[in-house]
Amino acid sequence: HAKKLGKNNYQFFTSEMNSTAQRYLQLEHHLRCALGQGELSLYYQPQVQIDSRAVIGMEALLRWHSPTLGMVMPDQFIGLAEETGLIVPIGEWVLRTACEQAQCWRETGTPVRVAVNLSGRQFQDFQHQRGLLDVVATVLAETGLPAELLELEITESIMMRDVDTTLATLQGLKRLGVRISVDDFGTGYSSLSYLKRFPLDTLKIDKAFVKDVSTDDSDRAIVAAITAMAGQLKLELVAEGIEDLEQLVFLSGQRCNYGQGYYFSKPVPVEQATALLKPGALSE
Ligand code: C2E
Ligand code: MG
Ligand code: MG
Ligand code: MG
Repeated sequence: HAKKLGKNNYQFFTSEMNSTAQRYLQLEHHLRCALGQGELSLYYQPQVQIDSRAVIGMEALLRWHSPTLGMVMPDQFIGLAEETGLIVPIGEWVLRTACEQAQCWRETGTPVRVAVNLSGRQFQDFQHQRGLLDVVATVLAETGLPAELLELEITESIMMRDVDTTLATLQGLKRLGVRISVDDFGTGYSSLSYLKRFPLDTLKIDKAFVKDVSTDDSDRAIVAAITAMAGQLKLELVAEGIEDLEQLVFLSGQRCNYGQGYYFSKPVPVEQATALLKPGALSE
């Protein structure tokens, strides 16, 4: 009896594996074609000054509308894009498209910073192939976007993988004049001394800490500590994942000046994002 059960478990396990592997292969096949066939687009989510409700930035978030798979979210394909190297052309397309859009907003009288996420591979392999610095410099030159209107978001864990290389890359990016933001702050394992050594502009408190900030004492303490530290280090602070007024009130009481989240707006296609740039669009 036990043997039979074991066998069934085994079958169950392999069929699970097969379908996961199959889905992965299918994804890879489709992702290879996605860029060329115009299936990728950028949504934008506003980064908001909490007290004035002014939009200070727009984060570009990748979306893949596959005719066969439907809408695929970045968490489902960024990892695959990294493993296959497809992140290199895709990442360059994201950067160029976001900068073109920011330049367009600037030229139509609503200048706003654009924030672009960098993957580990884009950030770390910068010495190989066409370097990250070359790509950023070229895109800024070709789009005409002033460097200070571009912010690059890099997660804490990626930054800490090889701190010497990170420091060199960040210094190169700063020489170009772009802003550097630490994404998902608090979830990695950064040594606080690097917050001082790296040339950073912004910390983004991970949404995991914001989620229960209205009720969880530990989360409140963590957010308060990050806020105090960012103030001392003169870093701009953005709270991610603000979904309700209670969270907002707590954060603003802690002097966390900027926020991003569904409370203000979900990530939206470019036409809707443009409408959010009209003065007062996010006022209560
Ligand atoms: P991220 O950079 O931390 O982006 C924030 C994520 O939180 C986005 O998910 C956004 O839709 C979501 N979010 C925003 N407000 C709220 C909220 O109030 N509540 C909740 N629950 N979620 C909220 P999304 O768009 O699915 O992107 C997931 C991750 O994929 C991003 O996390 C980023 O790491 C990565 N990603 C997205 N676009 C790109 C890209 O162009 N390049 C690279 N390398 N990574 C990207
Ligand atoms: Mg981000
Ligand atoms: Mg984040
Ligand atoms: Mg994230």
